Amino acid sequence: MTKHIFVTGGVVSSLGKGITAASLGHLLKARGYKVTMQKMDPYLNVDPGTMSPFQHGEVFVTEDGHEGDLDLGHYERFIDENLSRESNFTQGSIYQTLISRERRGDFLGGTVQVIPHVTDAIKERLTRIAEQSNADIVISEIGGTVGDIESTPFIEAVRQFKKQHNPQDVVFVHCALVPYIPAAHEVKTKPCQHSVKELRSLGVQPDFIVCRSDHDVNQQLREKIALFCDVPLDHVVNCLDAPSIYDVPLALHEQGFDTAVLEKLGLEKGEADLTNLNKFLSDVENCDGEVDIAIVGKYTDLHDAYLSVIEALTHAGVFHGKTVNSHLVNGEELNEGNVDEVLSKFDGILVPGGFGVRAFEGKILAAKYAREHKVPFLGICLGLQAAVVEYARHVAGLEGATSTEFDEEAQYPVIDLMPEQEDVENKGGTMRLGAYPCKVKPGSRAAEIYGEELIYERHRHRYEVNNAFRDALTDAGLVISGLSPDDRLVEMVEIPEHPWYVASQGHPEFKSRPWKTHPLFRGFVGAAIEQKFN
Ligand code: GLN
Repeated sequence: MTKHIFVTGGVVSSLGKGITAASLGHLLKARGYKVTMQKMDPYLNVDPGTMSPFQHGEVFVTEDGHEGDLDLGHYERFIDENLSRESNFTQGSIYQTLISRERRGDFLGGTVQVIPHVTDAIKERLTRIAEQSNADIVISEIGGTVGDIESTPFIEAVRQFKKQHNPQDVVFVHCALVPYIPAAHEVKTKPCQHSVKELRSLGVQPDFIVCRSDHDVNQQLREKIALFCDVPLDHVVNCLDAPSIYDVPLALHEQGFDTAVLEKLGLEKGEADLTNLNKFLSDVENCDGEVDIAIVGKYTDLHDAYLSVIEALTHAGVFHGKTVNSHLVNGEELNEGNVDEVLSKFDGILVPGGFGVRAFEGKILAAKYAREHKVPFLGICLGLQAAVVEYARHVAGLEGATSTEFDEEAQYPVIDLMPEQEDVENKGGTMRLGAYPCKVKPGSRAAEIYGEELIYERHRHRYEVNNAFRDALTDAGLVISGLSPDDRLVEMVEIPEHPWYVASQGHPEFKSRPWKTHPLFRGFVGAAIEQKFN
């Protein structure tokens, strides 16, 4: 029988309950259990794919091409497992399925209702992921905050789920803010108590309470929470703001959180193997020197919009024993007049993925600056497209070249819609998504970086390098170093006489893990370090 852990959030959102859930996942895996994770999102979008990164941060893409919540990225990085489209569903997707069944007549004249139909469909997903993953433990995080109208069906579904299972097989973890009030010099437990009261009014008694705070929640306060919320004292766990998210699992472990959870689930508690985590944390400690990388994008007011890119850069830095400082540079604010001044501060330039014309010219300027000044450059997805447009305009002599995403009438459409996208009208879930193979050109930098002939990266795009311009680009010196196995699609390009200039149509950032750094990020950051220090 699979065990289930449900993680809810209290008081406010953006508490980092995804990190808490992922940290618990890491610890339980370290105890030898097969763990999988999922995120249930109460909003009505069918998936996050159509949402602006300003709404919920980056869209994380799984191997099998699901456009998912960014917490999936934390889960993959912390439990070091590939997740799938089973690992994330929204209330919108539940309603979509139910309503199409209703239209088909599947309900034979019955009334379709939140209880039991929506709650049954949610429980179905809980059972399905358990069966498909064959995991010992499934950790499911409920998005939003307890008390939200839209998350109520999820709370009700997990309440029923617990009733229908052996009590030892289901555990509830409630993660709540315990704020420090500066004027009173006091940490206050009342909001946490209230959110537990709210949860209990919905029929769910938490087994554990994780106190998210920027101040120590001392024993006395924890006793208060334990008493008011009806949980044993050792089930009230502190989760202080930490220097890095990768410190959180250890902090929880030191308080015996994983031990207590396993006890509650009636599972054996073998030694936790924290070798990889400890090694990573000591490598972080031992980092000596730093490099500054510019991420030239458009959603620069929101760090989470480029979360996986920033994480991948951090991992690569730690691999090389250097701290990477990632700086978000707004491409919209770059122009011919200031580009040198703005970008000369950086040891490497990265142009990440994106949609829409805003900031595109700035990304082109960044690619040009990196090419001309021999600054290490990594282009990802739209970043590859910007690099190709730049090369076309300024080296291949195709003045005004651009992507048809931005100008359908372009004279030199060096980036064009993929043929299979031509008749696509719906926006949701219709891009080229998920892992696709790429043949790497022998002798190229890409080949040296990957050390393999056939590689796989995760994709999320509608446009590609226009094959009609391949010769013009390669005649001018651009090297196409990665192609789809049928040779139809350009997957990677590079500039051979540049110290390190590589771009990829796929998104390598989704595959980087703290202790399995991604070769492209390793190479890119390594080149930035080489230039700065040698
Ligand atoms: N907008 C571009 C396309 O659809 C790039 C997408 C991306 O960077 N993820 O092809």
